[in-house]
Amino acid sequence: MDIDPLLAPAILCLGPDGLETARRIRSGCPEAVISGLAGPVEGAEILHDSLESALRDLYRRDQPVIALCAAATVIRALAPLLKPDQPEPPVLAVAEDGGAVVPLLGLRRGANRLARIVGAALGVTPAFTLPDCDPSTRCPTGTKRRGRLAVVGLGPGCGGLMAPEAREELRRARHIIGYETYVRLAGPFRSDQIIHASDNRVEMERARHAFTLAAAGESVVVVSSGDPGIFAMATAVLEALHHSEEASWHRDVELTIIPGISAAQAAAARAGAPLGHDFCVLSLSDNLKPWPVILDRLAAAARADLVIALYNPISRARPWQLGEALDLLRQQRAPETPVVLGRDVGRPDERVWVVRLDALTPEQVDMRTVVIVGSSTTQAFPRAEGGAWVYTPRWYGETALPISA
Ligand code: SAH
Repeated sequence: MDIDPLLAPAILCLGPDGLETARRIRSGCPEAVISGLAGPVEGAEILHDSLESALRDLYRRDQPVIALCAAATVIRALAPLLKPDQPEPPVLAVAEDGGAVVPLLGLRRGANRLARIVGAALGVTPAFTLPDCDPSTRCPTGTKRRGRLAVVGLGPGCGGLMAPEAREELRRARHIIGYETYVRLAGPFRSDQIIHASDNRVEMERARHAFTLAAAGESVVVVSSGDPGIFAMATAVLEALHHSEEASWHRDVELTIIPGISAAQAAAARAGAPLGHDFCVLSLSDNLKPWPVILDRLAAAARADLVIALYNPISRARPWQLGEALDLLRQQRAPETPVVLGRDVGRPDERVWVVRLDALTPEQVDMRTVVIVGSSTTQAFPRAEGGAWVYTPRWYGETALPISA
């Protein structure tokens, strides 16, 4: 994966007063490193001896700089290094209290764009003094571009099961945000695209970060595996928007959600057509909802004779829940009920197999598996190449109806 070294800016802090501002900037630009001077700035990650040498080092390393100090200080430090026609990294001067953002150098390499991101995080409009020369930014400076935020479903894993619209969004985006594993599936990326990979559990933070970037005029994609609206990021993004008081998130961001093939659909297709009649989808994860609620829903679904697709069936932190769920299902469904297990569907290690409900044990299942439990009418029969086809007929009751459509 190609991560643009241009986008790990250093936020240079002169003293403790700037640290709070530095942290606010980082809320909109999480990959930035807060860099301080040895002595006065406790809590900064990289320490330098003097502001002048810090500025020069960063400039020579071609690293973008967000300097929390007077513009004149930056100019004096860097002036001796400036040469005509030599590429320069973005350099911004930002008032220590966060009240002003001025792009000074590197306009060809995204200084105005970086200033917009920093300005959005601080709630100020940058003082642009030159039109935008960055070839990737089409509008003249001052007339801010409308940002775009696309929440994209990647499908279960392989490129072939990804919608062309999702691929197009990935192509046009400048920023790609998501859980590391899924971001990897969405690649490869170009060197001008910026990857913000994160842990799976910080959904709201990711959603807010996406809006902060998009409200600054950037094009952003948030990726989810499968469908983004099924136990995934689209909800967090809408929740962040619904509860946000940032008018610019509502006004300046064009939000779109691109569907994907969900794990249950992909596994079902490999096994035949187990979802051919009424079915439901349940997450067994009790991280965000209480276990008794899950058991209640499972019992209701079992009573209603729905085919049940179980997501998040088991994990190291939730080892016993699946066993309890299976005990409940066995009380309602015949022992020979077909169960489809799909693991890593659409990925290189894909495995899809069929077991009877009475033979299913939690050891056969992990968090990369989706479990589809048949209803009373779900059928299984051998396939020529081994294994079984599974389907749930569309007729119901005693008589098979002639199927006309
Ligand atoms: N948005 C995703 C679901 C995310 S919840 C979708 O629509 O598919 C995560 C759960 O989805 C996993 O615990 C697993 O049960 C299921 N899952 C996701 N991708 C899968 C895959 N490729 N193969 C099997 N199960 C998968």
